[in-house]
Amino acid sequence: METVTTVAELRSIVKQWKKEGKSIGFVPTMGYLHEGHGSLISRARENDRVVVSIFVNPMQFGENEDFSSYPRDFERDCRFCGSLGTDIVFHPDPSEIYASDFCTFVDMSRLTENLCGKSRPGHFRGVCTVVAKLLNIVNPDRAYFGEKDAQQLAVIKRMVRDLNIDVEIIGCPIVREHDGLAKSSRNTYLNGDERKAALVLNKALSYAEMLAKKGVTDPETITSAMIELIKSEPLAKVDYVKAVNSITMEDIEKINPQTLIAIAVYIGKTRLIDNLIVR
Ligand code: AMP
Repeated sequence: METVTTVAELRSIVKQWKKEGKSIGFVPTMGYLHEGHGSLISRARENDRVVVSIFVNPMQFGENEDFSSYPRDFERDCRFCGSLGTDIVFHPDPSEIYASDFCTFVDMSRLTENLCGKSRPGHFRGVCTVVAKLLNIVNPDRAYFGEKDAQQLAVIKRMVRDLNIDVEIIGCPIVREHDGLAKSSRNTYLNGDERKAALVLNKALSYAEMLAKKGVTDPETITSAMIELIKSEPLAKVDYVKAVNSITMEDIEKINPQTLIAIAVYIGKTRLIDNLIVR
């Protein structure tokens, strides 16, 4: 496995691979990798070559968010990537990605106006801009994203369609801890009590699933019940609990198969997200 830090070097390797007719799978990440990322990398092995990017993208963090404290362990990430058969880890410096006079952005409307886009203004502008750049740099056949970030996955699929980017976007299922907590690099922020309290996210989603299975179709009935359950956990504070169309991210009037139930909850100071699609 090779580590590459410049766009020029990555481009020349990819050019050679393309000449040889190799297919390329790409997994963009912010590092501090866990089995959630691992599942994407393993799936990407369906291509001849796999590139994983590790880049904590400053543009997608708000001013008072955790950009500087975001967990980083590049050596460990490299061992993890190597053990899963990654060919290249792309680890650029922010200055390699953003020139000092950088002024071009990918700004999506509609899909970004609800859920995390509403709570984190500017977040998806940062995500779309960096993912568009990374797709241009790596030029993969397929790129892999987790359903854990369901809105991000929908946004990237729409961006690729709207901008005619020649790549197949593949969504991969949420990987969870043994007790149901969705794996996340941010779980490392949680202390012992918070880690226990964080189970309330998955509990609320399971409760919603149970209500939907029982035939409850009113989104408000389901989201209110979820909010009540989350409120019973003293360390938890709801950011949002929403039932939306899983493609458009718009609020819906009736729960149906393919409805996305998405939640963001603060556990202490840590903001966690999770979701499920009603089947
Ligand atoms: P991040 O490093 O948090 O930006 O995540 C990089 C990619 O890994 C994104 O496409 C995430 O959706 C995906 N991912 C993160 N956590 C999980 C998880 N628990 N299960 C599946 N995919 C995940």
